[in-house]
Amino acid sequence: MNIVLFGMPGSGKGTQANFIKIKYNLTHISTGDVFRENIKKNTELGKLARSYIDSGKLVPDELTINLLENKIEENTNSKGYIFDGFPRTIEQGIHLDNFLFKKNLSINLTISLEVDERILINRILKRGVESGRADDQDKMKIRQRFDEYNQKTSILKEYYKEQNKFFSISGQDSINQVKDRLTKLIDKHKND
Ligand code: ADP
Repeated sequence: MNIVLFGMPGSGKGTQANFIKIKYNLTHISTGDVFRENIKKNTELGKLARSYIDSGKLVPDELTINLLENKIEENTNSKGYIFDGFPRTIEQGIHLDNFLFKKNLSINLTISLEVDERILINRILKRGVESGRADDQDKMKIRQRFDEYNQKTSILKEYYKEQNKFFSISGQDSINQVKDRLTKLIDKHKND
């Protein structure tokens, strides 16, 4: 089973992906986490990605797609993947489909966590205080990330709707309530 989790920055993708991966025995692939690890270790990839991330821009597709493919290759024995923060552009979505197809795999379902922008800003600023993430501490950068999402990522909803694989749920209630909603939805559609 392969799942894509969508949602604006701060919508709870990472938190929920951590539950889902355990419940369904999936490999969690978060492009944001991989970028942050690389920035910490000061790798070439980290150096390249940093300026984009710090200014609230998407990292260019070429770098991101490469990283994603490497992560899948490192985990080929997996029972399935939960993608968190990927794809974020149509090009990434098409690439992911083609890459999985070559391995006789496909996306089963994509789920969007819907949260009001005002709530998101508060959540992200709070996370920024706790984590020290530079992109979480500045309202302008957060706005910029919302703009990137609205301009480049949200169009992927149509892409997956055309494939009958798109679902959305509210991400505004408690973590546990969202988790329950999400697992019910997955149980219902996991064999689609
Ligand atoms: P959030 O969902 O809160 O924005 P992430 O950890 O998913 O947090 O992403 C942090 C940053 O990493 C993004 O703002 C972007 O710069 C970069 N990034 C993550 N995933 C991708 C992707 N698939 N394509 C391009 N850039 C990405």
